[in-house]
Amino acid sequence: MEKICVAVRVRPPICHENSSSTFWRVDDNQISLHKLHGSPISCVSYAFDHVFDENCSNSDIYELLTKDIIHAAVDGFNGTSFAYGQTSSGKTFTMNGSSNDPGIIHRAVNDIFQKINIISDREFLIRVSYMEIYNEEINDLFAVENQKLQIHENLERGIFVAGLREEIVNNAEQVMKLLESGEVNRHFGETNMNARSSRSHTIFRVVIESKGKDTGSFGDYSSSDAIRVSVLNLVDLAGSERIAKTGTGGVRLKEGKYINKSLMVLGNVINKLSDSAKQRAHIPYRDSKLTRILQPALGGNAKTSIICTVAPEEIHIEETKGTLLFASRAKRVTNCAQVNEVLTDAALLKRQKLEIEELRRKLQGSHAEVLEQEILKLRNDMLQYELEREKLEMELEKERRSHKERDRYIRDQLMMIENLSSLVSDGDGSSSQGSMKESPIEECNNRGDDFKTPCFRAAPKAFVAKRSNYSQLPDLSPLPDSFSDVADEDTWFKINKGYIADLDSLQTTPARKVQSFPPEDVTPNYLNKKYKTELQNLKRRLELVTEEKNELQRKLAEDIEVKDRLKGDISKLKQEALLAREMPQRLCDSVTSFKDTYEEVLSKMQRYTFDGKSSTAKLLRCICEIGSILFSTMETSISNTTDRHKLSSGNDSLIQEYNKMLSEKLKSTITSLILSETASSEDKQTKTPCSCNFEVAAWSRYHVSILVLFFVMILGYFVSFFRTLIF
Ligand code: ADP
Ligand code: MG
Repeated sequence: MEKICVAVRVRPPICHENSSSTFWRVDDNQISLHKLHGSPISCVSYAFDHVFDENCSNSDIYELLTKDIIHAAVDGFNGTSFAYGQTSSGKTFTMNGSSNDPGIIHRAVNDIFQKINIISDREFLIRVSYMEIYNEEINDLFAVENQKLQIHENLERGIFVAGLREEIVNNAEQVMKLLESGEVNRHFGETNMNARSSRSHTIFRVVIESKGKDTGSFGDYSSSDAIRVSVLNLVDLAGSERIAKTGTGGVRLKEGKYINKSLMVLGNVINKLSDSAKQRAHIPYRDSKLTRILQPALGGNAKTSIICTVAPEEIHIEETKGTLLFASRAKRVTNCAQVNEVLTDAALLKRQKLEIEELRRKLQGSHAEVLEQEILKLRNDMLQYELEREKLEMELEKERRSHKERDRYIRDQLMMIENLSSLVSDGDGSSSQGSMKESPIEECNNRGDDFKTPCFRAAPKAFVAKRSNYSQLPDLSPLPDSFSDVADEDTWFKINKGYIADLDSLQTTPARKVQSFPPEDVTPNYLNKKYKTELQNLKRRLELVTEEKNELQRKLAEDIEVKDRLKGDISKLKQEALLAREMPQRLCDSVTSFKDTYEEVLSKMQRYTFDGKSSTAKLLRCICEIGSILFSTMETSISNTTDRHKLSSGNDSLIQEYNKMLSEKLKSTITSLILSETASSEDKQTKTPCSCNFEVAAWSRYHVSILVLFFVMILGYFVSFFRTLIF
């Protein structure tokens, strides 16, 4: 058991604030907050394995913190080194470095190849991969097409990322080139605090396999043919960030939330691991992909170092305190690192051994450098085939699992149907209950076939681990596919204040799909009762629904009746409208025939007048004219009504003109009648007082005029009646 090695690095200040009242002071392996005049602020002092001040270089850090882990990895121990800290505190600078001061990754790679070149009694196979965790998705930085990769675990390989491209490498230069190509694919973004802020966690992974050179053939498992396989993770975390400070929005905000959330899960894992063994309960590795991948490095089979980077500026004081708290808790975490030796085909080196030997034989006497390249190429091709095979195996496994799931589902459904039908027929459900209980056992048996137990040799030394000691079968909830419930700024506070989040409320781990079996303490009788009440409830609801349906049907019949009635009314109205439309035409015809009759009557009457100049003749003429005017007025009114759209002011004025003419005509007729009457009475006095003819004529004249006036009145009344009727 050994503690995680924790160091703090203070980055040089970016801007020298004049107004700052406090500063961080580094003394040996301690860091404390001081007031400007020099007195320390109590309770803000921390001690770690190493504390590096702003003048230290990446080389110092590598030598003191990481070198041992790298050397141990070459010897067969798993190793992990990661940088943790707020945005812009110098994590990427520490891991990647600059051209003047290469970072930990570059130094480690150089060191690995230097060391394996010195070790003459073992042969090595080194392969590297580079991945990033961006918004809780694992992407391959060596192959952009490999996105959203999944994490798997088995006894032979432990926890691994399926489908991740691995490249076999022969020297440090090759690795540097690969790293450069991978860097291009990494997610960066600009924030207020860092123009090139890493928006993802990156894991550079080196798998080192080695085997003693003096061993026998690979065909038989002799005492010294074990292969050491160690995994080295060099991790550059994305920085925890306060959204308000980094000034991020949109995509950056979303990224920030994911970053904060996964760092919070990392903090929670560290918190749980730092508790005493007794208090340790469930370690939430599966709550984020980062902690799941780093599981062996966190409290497992690995040598781990953490470099916590802090910014010295006073404005970052809260973040720095948060990082130091995280570092303090990490200091209490213990790991149990052991050399990993395997005898199974899981070691690539073993599988490739014969091929390489054959190639070597072929290459003897040829130009060594060119041929070494060829070997490397062939090795890489083989590795790619292996990966392909692995992918296919995964898919097959997935298929198999989904098939099983489907079968189980169908079985469940059948059981349910059986249960329900037995309930309906008032039968006993206990038999099906029994069959239901069998399923989980079956499931367990099936699951037992999923993995093959590898063949381990006896431990040559006490510290040598059998592969899989740390990698137990999945005992926890499955890894969430996505972080749907991303953290906000509160999360940041929780990370930095050492708050241990209630993981149940995080909702990051979806519950494993469980069989819908009744709980064990539920008896068949209880079930029977429950189903019966449910059945009764359903029946009651059915009755209600039927009633509602009947009511609706009745309403529908009523509606249909009303509709029919309305239809009848509409057709009647249509007929009436048709009649009304024809009415003006009919009236027009009647008026025309009436006019003809009128003119005929008057012409006949005129024939009885003896003299065209007599007052009777005049009267008749006037009446004829008045009548014509009246008829014309009527005709005009009717034709206006026939086509209302064509009604114009011109036609109205015509009617008014007719009216005027009519009243003038009436007036002149009356005047002429009065005049002729006066003249006749004078004649009567001067001439013969009693002339028979004359009297007859006068009598007839009076009566005709009264008749005509009466006739004209009727006609006028008739016209006005028609007008009101039409309009
Ligand atoms: P992070 O990865 O933590 O967000 P970076 O490593 O990108 O931060 O650092 C932010 C800036 O500070 C970069 O420009 C980097 O060069 C500079 N920087 C960080 N640490 C140091 C250091 N120890 N010495 C010199 N420059 C540094
Ligand atoms: Mg960075």
